[in-house]
Amino acid sequence: MKIVILDGYTENPGDLSWSGIEAFGDLTVYDRTPLNDHDEIAKRIGDAEVVYTNKTPITRETIAKCPNLKFISVLATGYNIVDVEAAKERGIPVTNIPTYGTMAVAQYAIALLLECCHHIGHHNQTVKEGKWQNSADWTYWDYPLIELDGKTLGIIGFGRIGQATGRIAKALGMKVIAYDEYPNDSGREIGTYVTLDELLAQSDVISLHCPLFPSTQGIINKDNIAKMKDGVIIINDSRGPLVNEQDMYDALESGKVAFFACDVVSSEPIKADNVLLKAKNCYITPHIAWAPKESRQRLMDIAVANLKAYVDGSPINVVNP
Ligand code: NAD
Repeated sequence: MKIVILDGYTENPGDLSWSGIEAFGDLTVYDRTPLNDHDEIAKRIGDAEVVYTNKTPITRETIAKCPNLKFISVLATGYNIVDVEAAKERGIPVTNIPTYGTMAVAQYAIALLLECCHHIGHHNQTVKEGKWQNSADWTYWDYPLIELDGKTLGIIGFGRIGQATGRIAKALGMKVIAYDEYPNDSGREIGTYVTLDELLAQSDVISLHCPLFPSTQGIINKDNIAKMKDGVIIINDSRGPLVNEQDMYDALESGKVAFFACDVVSSEPIKADNVLLKAKNCYITPHIAWAPKESRQRLMDIAVANLKAYVDGSPINVVNP
């Protein structure tokens, strides 16, 4: 059986092993494949039976050009890059990795929040630049430092990651409130469900953990920001388009939002003209919340299990049943 991985580098830049997948056949791994070159994508899949993709699109045309293709496995949770309907018409199961990094992404949301509270990166850098040596006093700090104990964290999207973030925040002494369309008992054990408007009005910190849907796109916009407390901190390691970036820029400039820390932006990799790059009090990281080795190993294990289940004749994690 021929197996092709179109863009394996971000999942495994060299610190993991593809051997679990290799055990099933003749494996070719490409670090990356040009995302817009559909001829090249089809050429690389060639007569393979199994293809893995992370972000490389597999369109209806690509599927049509690959008559031997029988199984598409996405090395991620989101599978919008695959034309799942076209695959279904050909009887090709498409699988994903439903969950692998809940704790890592929750931990990262708190890391972004703690950066807004202490600015550890900035203080480390200025110490190395000599600012402490030349300080008139035995200490200095360049930002207001913030204690979280007793403050209110509002979580929009109280699912796996949202609830895990809430549990960590509680350990820091925070009061957790949440807005979710589908409240559940495990959520009630961690925090109090409120309406979106109540959350916006009551939160000292707002962390986004809902999926990107038409109903959630731009949920952080100027109207909703106006309903928030002055000096609110906003965290986003869910999806970039949840935030209207121009509105966020304006709110950071005016001070209405004290800090915005995000791991995701509207278009990735970030574009040179992204307005957030010149916003003050804005921390941006390159979509790394998911990427600790432990999480990627879990992703790899599930990718292997998906292939094994296909080979055994009863595929799991199928998104186009
Ligand atoms: P999940 O499905 O367990 O939780 C999502 C929650 O959002 C659910 O409880 C759902 O009811 C709720 N929701 C849906 N629509 C809503 C709405 N309109 N308003 C409020 N809540 C709504 O998903 P999860 O595993 O917790 O992942 C959450 C998100 O985290 C993902 O959708 C993804 O965008 C993001 N994520 C980011 C990274 C990263 O590396 N930065 C990694 C993994 C996931």
